[in-house]
Amino acid sequence: MSGKQESTEFAMRLFSPSPGSRLLCRYPATTILLLVGSALMLVAQLQPSYEVYALRYATLPGFPVSELVAGANPNRKIDIAMMIWLVRGNGRNILVDSGFYHERFFKDWEVKDFTKPSETLSRVGLKPEDITDVIITHMHWDHADGMDLFPNARIWIQKDELEYYAGEAWQAKETHGGIDADDLLTAVKLNTEGRLGLVQGDTREIIPGITCYIGGKHTYQSQYVGVRTKAGTVVLASDNVYLYENLERHAPIGETLDAGSNLRAQDRMKQIASRPGLIVPGHDPAVFDKFPSSTPGVAKIE
Ligand SMILES: [Zn+2]
Repeated sequence: MSGKQESTEFAMRLFSPSPGSRLLCRYPATTILLLVGSALMLVAQLQPSYEVYALRYATLPGFPVSELVAGANPNRKIDIAMMIWLVRGNGRNILVDSGFYHERFFKDWEVKDFTKPSETLSRVGLKPEDITDVIITHMHWDHADGMDLFPNARIWIQKDELEYYAGEAWQAKETHGGIDADDLLTAVKLNTEGRLGLVQGDTREIIPGITCYIGGKHTYQSQYVGVRTKAGTVVLASDNVYLYENLERHAPIGETLDAGSNLRAQDRMKQIASRPGLIVPGHDPAVFDKFPSSTPGVAKIE
């Protein structure tokens, strides 16, 4: 074989398509796109998705709307819904917020239609021991007081929220409104027992398909939660949005340390939620009209 022949064969091998690219050439681009598409769909199916329920445990009657929606007429009053939210799926029963139940709060507030938050779980066939995780959106008494009702749960809270209310917040009279000292001690105790999870800031997927976002400055470092469901991403806003009216009128909540930050958080929720109707406000009784159910005090968000 002459040197010229050898170099010609080498060049042919070099420039002929590789076995892989020959395989690709045999299938039209549309087939390959279909294959890639179904692979992506399979991955999406393997990612956990959850069912989300609002559970109503009480009513606070005659609440001033101006404390909920900045700029609202001071004469308007509303009977606000007190809720916790249950997220079920992937072998977990996760609560977002824990409600309140200690006797001391019934002296300060007129409370109607009260059910202990842990007992609302029986409406969906669960017991307090079945709860695996409780995500506390902020340390206010009506969201954090029940964190000791769920003996097997890991309690999640923003690290900065816990640190601030365990320390600096008590150095001045006006920096711990709505925070109950005993609730704070409970949180610290749960931490010493190894049962507290600290969420380290924004956009933290603490459990597959469950992401915590900071926002709204309702308290020092309040958070809200995005949950993947069959209907798309649900946003459990808690008090970072009090009522649907906040979203509709683009009005900050009445109680925030930073109204601009609260509006930016609301705008971002509209991006995160798969549709605006999947943003669940913290105290709006209309949640139960929007998502009617045969079981009173239960709304399935879908
Ligand atoms: Zn609050």
